[in-house]
Amino acid sequence: MRRPALALAAAMLLMTSCGQGTADKDVAPVQPDGAGAADAGAAIEPAQPAEAEDDGTEAGAGESGEPAGQAEPDEQAEGVGKAEDVPPAPLYRMNGAYRFVPIDDAATGKVVLLTFDDGPKDQAILEQMLDALDNHQAKAVFFVNGYRAVKQPELLELIHERGHMIGNHSWDHIDLKKEEEDAVRDQIGRVQRLVEETIGEAPKMFRPPFGSGGDYVRGIAEEFGLLFTTWSNGSLDWDSSTKNKPDAVIRNVLDQLHPGANILMHELPWTAEALEELLGKIEEAGYGFLDPALIEIPEPRPSDGDGSGA
Ligand SMILES: [Zn+2]
Repeated sequence: MRRPALALAAAMLLMTSCGQGTADKDVAPVQPDGAGAADAGAAIEPAQPAEAEDDGTEAGAGESGEPAGQAEPDEQAEGVGKAEDVPPAPLYRMNGAYRFVPIDDAATGKVVLLTFDDGPKDQAILEQMLDALDNHQAKAVFFVNGYRAVKQPELLELIHERGHMIGNHSWDHIDLKKEEEDAVRDQIGRVQRLVEETIGEAPKMFRPPFGSGGDYVRGIAEEFGLLFTTWSNGSLDWDSSTKNKPDAVIRNVLDQLHPGANILMHELPWTAEALEELLGKIEEAGYGFLDPALIEIPEPRPSDGDGSGA
């Protein structure tokens, strides 16, 4: 009895892995420890079911006004006032495990970055998420795909107007590690241009689909001046185990909560439904929400390519 069952399971795995590869394995609760999360990321990437794509799959981040909010005013509000054009001085830096740590003692380490991938898809779901974020004065990163954004550029504007950061998640949501260099540059560059043309500024952070890419894709992203990241806390909201289960999304995130957590979620209905309660519980645990605007972004690093960073 076991054999047939195993064979069946194996067959199913093969079938589902077509588009998504190692979903379950990789996805395995992204290690909170994170260290491996990122690079391991390649594997970690939540393989998204083909349809998942539609349903959403990766996550975004948020920023919370708290830690930042406090530090920022102190540092800048004073003399400079609130010049809107002047970006705040960075207070956090991403480490090798894709977690965020304070650059100096001025900021608390007990923060998390909220990120939502694979949008923009649905205005109602997006607004539900934006409202929950507002209720907690949290700012997030929405890692978007070009093929979606080009159909609904007004949703990019909405995210931007509500004070969140738009990140680059490639144009087609493909495994970039398997692509030629020029194709990778095109996948990243087209999103940079679309977002800049739409909201007036290009993304500063890049998360490869499925967390796949390693140093190869990272090097190209850095040509564009992008901070390459994966995540350190996977909500598993892309996994079938959490489909239509907001409570499972909440539990998965809380189970992996750690200082500087880079939380991967997606623009999905059950995640939107979970968000209000999830944010409250994160706060109850003593964490604030990291404002992505306070993350240190590296200078563009020219390479042999055409360096079309802009
Ligand atoms: Zn994705």
